[in-house]
Amino acid sequence: MVKFLDLKKINGQYIDEIQTNIQSVIDSGWYLSGKQNEEFSQKFAEYCGCQYALGVANGLDALNLIIRAYGFGPGDEIIVPANTYIASMLAISQNGCTPVFVEPDINTYNINPDLIEEKITPKTKAIMVVHLYGQAVEMAKIWEIAKKHNLKIIEDSAQAHGAVYNNQSKTGNLGDASGFSFYPGKNLGCMGDGGAVTTNDKELFEKIHALANYGSAQKYVHTYKGTNSRLDEIQAAVLNAKIKHLDSDNNKRRKIAEYYLANIKNEHIILPQVKDKNSHVWHIFAVRTSNRDKFQQYLSDNDIQTIIHYPTPPHKQGAYSEYKNLELPITEEIHRTIISLPISPVLTEEEMIKVADIINKYQG
Ligand SMILES: *Cc1c(COP(=O)(O)O)cnc(C)c1O
Repeated sequence: MVKFLDLKKINGQYIDEIQTNIQSVIDSGWYLSGKQNEEFSQKFAEYCGCQYALGVANGLDALNLIIRAYGFGPGDEIIVPANTYIASMLAISQNGCTPVFVEPDINTYNINPDLIEEKITPKTKAIMVVHLYGQAVEMAKIWEIAKKHNLKIIEDSAQAHGAVYNNQSKTGNLGDASGFSFYPGKNLGCMGDGGAVTTNDKELFEKIHALANYGSAQKYVHTYKGTNSRLDEIQAAVLNAKIKHLDSDNNKRRKIAEYYLANIKNEHIILPQVKDKNSHVWHIFAVRTSNRDKFQQYLSDNDIQTIIHYPTPPHKQGAYSEYKNLELPITEEIHRTIISLPISPVLTEEEMIKVADIINKYQG
């Protein structure tokens, strides 16, 4: 069986370092807001090339806290790609803001920058870009639009740790603030829930720091009605062990993606498009095919596991029923036809070759 994702094997690559780090937390007797978090926030900020990073409880909290720290709320609109994972929208909704859906580019699956400006109103406060499936969003035009209309750019980088835009900057350093997730299956994943905020804005950073700590920057002084959103020391310990291997893990994913792109040749399968090598970290390798159920069954019959990211677009979910009549044909086309192939740092060469071979024999 070619597994879609083998988390035990992924973490097994570095298990000695992970265990050593976890043991040091146990031995320290200090389980929250300690040395591991200090080390990780420094390393992660450095990795992303930005000034500040803060570990928080999960990726949704990271996005939620950014919006909250900007003070955006009811009556404010935030632009978001219509085909993202629903957590991006939930962060907007949880603050009482209105998500405004923009169609993606059918080839990259990322927000189409040419369709953003027509959605801007006097209520628009921010553009949330989502580096979906691991590919950095085409930022140049979005930077221009944000500047012209005085909007914040919030990155959802939950799927794109380490992706580099235009050989210029990494995700986490492409907007005003960015949210990351370290959910176990992400390119940088811990062994439970985890997330981080990155930014170069000191004031924003300090406010998020306080908001995540009961609204307090100084012990027992509560400036805001904050929340509790912390990255556990044990999770930070896992991340400190794994972050030094993130680039090599991403490069292993790139090798597989390059192989698939060069070797999958089947008229029934549409391959993803990538701008340049470094812009994609291949969290997900998604292809499209018109008869997806049949294709998925065919792969399953050949012992190849696949997953659909995602079967139903947010505007067709019960949670967003007020959007159900929106016409988003590109988003719907993507959700109807998309399917994710196995890709990970531990997928073997034989498995990779098998996946391409079996796909090439698919008759449609
Ligand atoms: C995983 C993910 C999130 C949420 O992260 P959690 O840590 O699970 O809360 C947000 N946005 C996108 C695009 C994601 O893939």
